[in-house]
Amino acid sequence: MKIQTDTPLEQIFRLSPFQKKALAKMRLKKIEDLLRHFPTRYGEAGDVKAIEFLNVGENAVVFGKISKLKTAKTFKSRVAISTAEVEDTTGKVKIIWFSQPYIAKMYFEGSLVRIEGKISERKGELYFSNPKIEKVSEIPEGTSGSLFTGEDNYNLSPVYSESRSISSNWIYHAIQKIFSAEFLDNLIDPIPLEILKKYNLPSLKTSLIWIHAPRKKEDAEIARKRFAFEEIFFIQLDRQKEKYLAQKEKSFLISKKDKEIKDFINTFPFPLTSAQNKSIDVILADFKTGHPMSRLLEGDVGSGKTAVAATASFATVTTAPPDRKFGNLQVAYMAPTEILAEQHFESFIEYFAKYKISVGLITGSGAKKFPSKTSQGRTLNYPGSKGPTLAWTKISKPQLLKWVANGEIPILIGTHSLIQKTVQFKNLALIIIDEQHRFGVNQRMQLRRKHDIAPHLLSMTATPIPRTLALTIFGDLDLSLLDELPAGRQIPETKIVLPHEREQIYERVRGELKDGRQVFVICPRVNDPDPDKENAINAKSVKSEEERLQKKIFPEFKVGSITGKMKPSEKENVMREFKNKKIDILVATSVVEVGVNVPNATVIIIENAERFGLAQLHQLRGRVLRSSFKPYCFVFADLPRSSLSGGGSKTISRLKSFATSSNGFELAEADLQQRGSGDLAGAKQWGVSDLAMEALKNIKMVEAARTEARAIIEKDFELKKYPLLARHLASKAVVHME
Ligand code: ADP
Ligand code: MG
Repeated sequence: MKIQTDTPLEQIFRLSPFQKKALAKMRLKKIEDLLRHFPTRYGEAGDVKAIEFLNVGENAVVFGKISKLKTAKTFKSRVAISTAEVEDTTGKVKIIWFSQPYIAKMYFEGSLVRIEGKISERKGELYFSNPKIEKVSEIPEGTSGSLFTGEDNYNLSPVYSESRSISSNWIYHAIQKIFSAEFLDNLIDPIPLEILKKYNLPSLKTSLIWIHAPRKKEDAEIARKRFAFEEIFFIQLDRQKEKYLAQKEKSFLISKKDKEIKDFINTFPFPLTSAQNKSIDVILADFKTGHPMSRLLEGDVGSGKTAVAATASFATVTTAPPDRKFGNLQVAYMAPTEILAEQHFESFIEYFAKYKISVGLITGSGAKKFPSKTSQGRTLNYPGSKGPTLAWTKISKPQLLKWVANGEIPILIGTHSLIQKTVQFKNLALIIIDEQHRFGVNQRMQLRRKHDIAPHLLSMTATPIPRTLALTIFGDLDLSLLDELPAGRQIPETKIVLPHEREQIYERVRGELKDGRQVFVICPRVNDPDPDKENAINAKSVKSEEERLQKKIFPEFKVGSITGKMKPSEKENVMREFKNKKIDILVATSVVEVGVNVPNATVIIIENAERFGLAQLHQLRGRVLRSSFKPYCFVFADLPRSSLSGGGSKTISRLKSFATSSNGFELAEADLQQRGSGDLAGAKQWGVSDLAMEALKNIKMVEAARTEARAIIEKDFELKKYPLLARHLASKAVVHME
């Protein structure tokens, strides 16, 4: 049968039920999946040996003539067993393969082969079990003598991520079988030839051979480079296309006088940082183009993104729609959790009260509106204001939605419920998304496409992302950085704490608690591929730490806990209790919502800090940067006492760079540069492969992919002249985050 890229593996390979299950778990369904299951590394093969010198238990390579090829099934388990013999001038040795019946058919009696694998023994007889086999054109000189130790060109043996019934060797041979089926010559390379030539990248065919069966290291490396380029190029094509389409759409023209904006900003109780001013300027410039803005505002926790969002909202809601009928342009402000949505609601009331601009809040648990005529709602303490004017009131959702639909309420803040079908705006002109990395590109686009006139989009995130990663996965967005904290912010004291210093630090923490402060304790997320298991482990470690702290360390204070396993409503409750100081010490996993404002929490303890990435540590530390009290970050590392002075270990130098740098962007870059291959944390978080993560270390490659993608889209955004690219883009799950 003819093998094609989309042929299911089970049509080509006879698979046992175990193997089928294993392949499904590894998400290998079709030929293409297997071809793109790249080796994680290349092992050194064993020594080349003459057959008479083979020993049990060793890894060895022999060259010789193959004979007596046959395949049978075991009587009981019906597992296919292939056997053969290989012979050199010094002797013969038997070969056995389990569950790889096709091997016997791939080789002729008398073929010259290279056999590599482990030597086993049964009843005094040696044999290769499940070895790797390759055809060779000649037997290298000297191998038939005694010990051969010369340079071996075949010395790179691919190691794949594997499972018990699908071994690296199984994968290797399966791929060889695909390769030998004249399949490679019919492969079509989706990357245009000009681009391959320009950047000296090998063709798809060559790259596949080089990555799965390299003859030298350099070949494998250049093949990896090609596939990394390909992945980034496709993500870029997808994003550049989005960007191109967005730029062609019409949007509301928002053109405010500088004076009006200045007056608004002057009502803030603080002067803006220059980074805030700059971001506001570019946003206002975007608003004047008549095309939708797509901007990512990236700034550390506490850098003041809300003030920027408020100013953009102000410009919007004080602008009349073109038909000038009733009401002004509207803003939707989406937050990932109820607590954050409430927090933004309260901030916006403060920003907009003077202007008598109404603000609505809609979450899973209900609706609120400001201002309140009846003033039955809570009164906010806003300095310089008369209490009741800042009161909001609870109203029914249908009532709120009616006012949003007829344009009476210009600003609607909420959680995901904001994008439900029932929420209709009259003139939605600006969508603000907080902590936007939680929303995928698709959701972003859906949100926008729902409307006849495309709204402007302002995404905000406090997650520090390396520049190359941002350019790639957020390639459809323009980037603004808030790389400056407001003046007068407290610099946190970050201390690396070794096990013998634990007690002493607990006493310092007790001092802070006695002064009325609150504490976060973060326990590591155990990296386990099974999500259910992972949560179980998390919950247990958080729970046991909660118990230990409550009973043994801080019995006089209230300890609580929160984990990713809890229901959203339970999480919200715990966070609320912490915010209202019903809980003094909150033990949590690292997944606990970022951005929640608990100004009284000034201490964060991070357990097993050696397991966290730098950017993640930085984000955790950001949770205690919200107040005028001195913040502390205690980094508990499970390292020997000598490691601090020794200065040698990689872990400790990583943690030291965290303790000395307070710049999230720097730390994110350092994270990327220091990550080893096989380190999947970042890849998992951002939805790009490990291979592409590696490539993101290389700004030149990322820029090349971006330039080429943009050039193609600008010439031919429908990819009419590039049918292969179009097909590839449509068929491939171009990475989208969850
Ligand atoms: P984030 O960027 O994390 O969303 P926020 O917008 O919540 O930060 O701002 C954090 C705090 O800093 C808020 O209390 C806000 O009022 C205050 N803030 C914002 N900008 C400034 C500034 N330029 N100077 C002083 N304080 C500011
Ligand atoms: Mg924020």
